[in-house]
This record gives sequence, structure tokens and C-alpha cells, in this order.
Amino acid sequence: MTPLTQILIAQITEAGPMTLAEYMAHCLMHPQHGYYATRDPLGAAGDFTTAPEISQMFGELLGLSLAQAWLDQGAPSPFALAELGPGRGTLMADILRATHAVHGFHAAAQVHLVETSPTLRAAQARSLAGAGPVWHDAVQTLPDLPLFLVANEFFDALPIRQAQRDGAQWRERMVGRDGDRLIPGLSAPSTLPPLAHRLEDTQNGDIVEFSPAATHIAAHIGAQIAQHGGAALIVDYGDWRALGDTFQALRAHAAADPYAAPGTADLTAHVDFEALALAAAPARHSRLTTQGVFLERLGITQRAQKLAGALSGAAREAHVAAHRRLTHPAEMGTLFKVMGLYPEGAAPPPGLPE
Ligand code: SAH
Repeated sequence: MTPLTQILIAQITEAGPMTLAEYMAHCLMHPQHGYYATRDPLGAAGDFTTAPEISQMFGELLGLSLAQAWLDQGAPSPFALAELGPGRGTLMADILRATHAVHGFHAAAQVHLVETSPTLRAAQARSLAGAGPVWHDAVQTLPDLPLFLVANEFFDALPIRQAQRDGAQWRERMVGRDGDRLIPGLSAPSTLPPLAHRLEDTQNGDIVEFSPAATHIAAHIGAQIAQHGGAALIVDYGDWRALGDTFQALRAHAAADPYAAPGTADLTAHVDFEALALAAAPARHSRLTTQGVFLERLGITQRAQKLAGALSGAAREAHVAAHRRLTHPAEMGTLFKVMGLYPEGAAPPPGLPE
């Protein structure tokens, strides 16, 4: 039994089964045994790889989209240049490099990072040493400034609740115990107010997921953008009004049992962008756009050709493969989506239609 299994079994014995959200929060963020608290999960040696780790082009293009949104809103100064869940700091480093030539952008920007993992904060401090970032445990302490924000593969890491429809009610996914094993189960049926609107589009037996943590964060960001100006680029796998069981564990780039060895695998779920958009009102939201289309609109092919000119051999092949991986429908191009948030009266960030 892993130490975290022991802790969770003791808690279940005492207080009964826990929601999937509680279970995920322990597995990901437990201060001693949580997945993010204890390791750097990114890259070939880790459990998964993300777009900024695949190619510098991803951060460059997101940075230029954000900088153009800043110019379109009159280049407010000062403003918060913020990232949620910055991983190794690669995306923010690429954003800063690409926006160097945007007149006034760096002088006006204060870099703010929302990150709970001490291990990844240390990595971010190394990659962003020159930028003087300020770290936050949560979005609530971001400054009251125009907010220009990116979040890549952040929302998928937030705890979700999951329920299966039973008539006009729902049975919630709970984590219980069988001897010294953790096992998933379903609660007795009850009404779940956050899922009231899902009675319209679901049938008996359908599974739906919702993330109170995600809607809470989206509400805060949306309110700040509506009040002070700014824009957010939210990139993740998921869809509009997600349906079905998307809860999964990933270890060493392969699917794993999410209930065995808690704290040692990444746990994620697809993001329901509709829930984020609704929570972010009164900020406006762009149309949900696939990552491939978004990056193509911003000129990734031209940028890729320019970079390829300076490369040869294996480096050039890797670069071509990275371009394909970010944009091709069979790779990340279609599964990953981008949604922009922006204030009433402003244009959406470039690459995203209203
Ligand atoms: N954006 C990075 C890393 C994605 S991994 C990239 O694209 O490479 C998810 C990131 O979110 C990690 O940095 C993780 O530590 C952070 N994270 C997860 N849950 C969080 C939470 N509740 N609050 C703040 N950061 C969190």
C-alpha cells in the first residue's frame, strides 16, 4: 500500500466514501504525497508532454495574440501578464521572448504565476529568472489590474465531480474502500443542482462531469477581465458541454488505473468549455476553436518555415514533426481547443472568432 492509500483508507473508514473531486485533490495536491507536489511530470522522462515543451512556436504565437489584444485595448500600463499552472515556465519564457519587440509591452507587464507545486515553482524560477515573477497559490490574489492571461493544460488538472443520470436524478461517483483497496462506486440518487441544465441534453445512464474548482476560477478571471480589461487564452483538451466519462490516469505516457497507487499518476479529465464560458460572464467568450486552426490562423506554417531554414538533419526532422504534432487533426490539432475571454466592446484575441 502506498502512504497515500493508507491515509485515504483511514479517512474513508472514518467518514465514508469521498467524491471524485476530493479524491483527485488528495492525489494531485497532497503536500507530501501528491502528484504535482512531489515531482516534475513533464517531458519525455515524465508522464506527459505539453505543447510548449514540444515547440517554442506555441508560446511565441500565444504571446503575439495576447500582445495584439493588449494593443487593441489601448496598451494599458501597468497590466498583469499572468499564467495559470505554468509547469516548467517554458510557455511564459517563449511569450516574453516573442513579445520583446512589442513596444511598451515589457515595460508595462508584471508577471504573475498561479502555481501550487513547490517543485514546479522552482523550475519556473529558473526559466523566468530575468522576469521577476510573483507567485500566487490561487487567482484570488492576482492584482486588480488589466489581466492578460494564458492557461495551457491547467483546467484539465483541476478536480472534477462525476455523476450518472438516474431518471430525473443523479448518482454521484464516489471513492470507497474494499479491504485495503480503493474502489469507485455510485451514491444513492439525488438531485444535483449544478447539473439541472444537463437534464435537457442527457438520457438515463449518461455520465456527466463538472468541476466546481474550474468554474470558481473562471468566474474570478471573467469578473476581473470584465472590470479591468484584458484577455485570457484557455487551451486544453475537451469540448463544449462535455458528455461521458473522461476521467483518466496517465503514467509514463500510458493510461493507468486511477485508483491504484494514488499520487503516483497524473489524473485528468476533459474540460467543459461551456461551463467555463458561463462562469466567466460578464466577460465575453470567443467561439471554441481547435488548436490546429488557431495556430494556423496565427501563422504557424510561416513561422515553422522560417525556423526550418536554420536547421538541418535530425533537428530539422524534429522541428517538422513538432509542427505536425501541434496542428494535425490526428495529433493535438483537433482534440485540443482554444477559447478566448475578453471584455464587452473589445475584439477577441487574434486567431479566435467572436
Ligand atoms: N502549463 C504547463 C503545465 C501543465 S501541467 C504546460 O503547458 O507545460 C499543470 C500545471 O498546473 C502544473 O504546473 C501544476 O502544478 C499546476 N496546477 C495543477 N493544479 C493546480 C491548482 N489547483 N492551482 C495552481 N496550479 C495548479
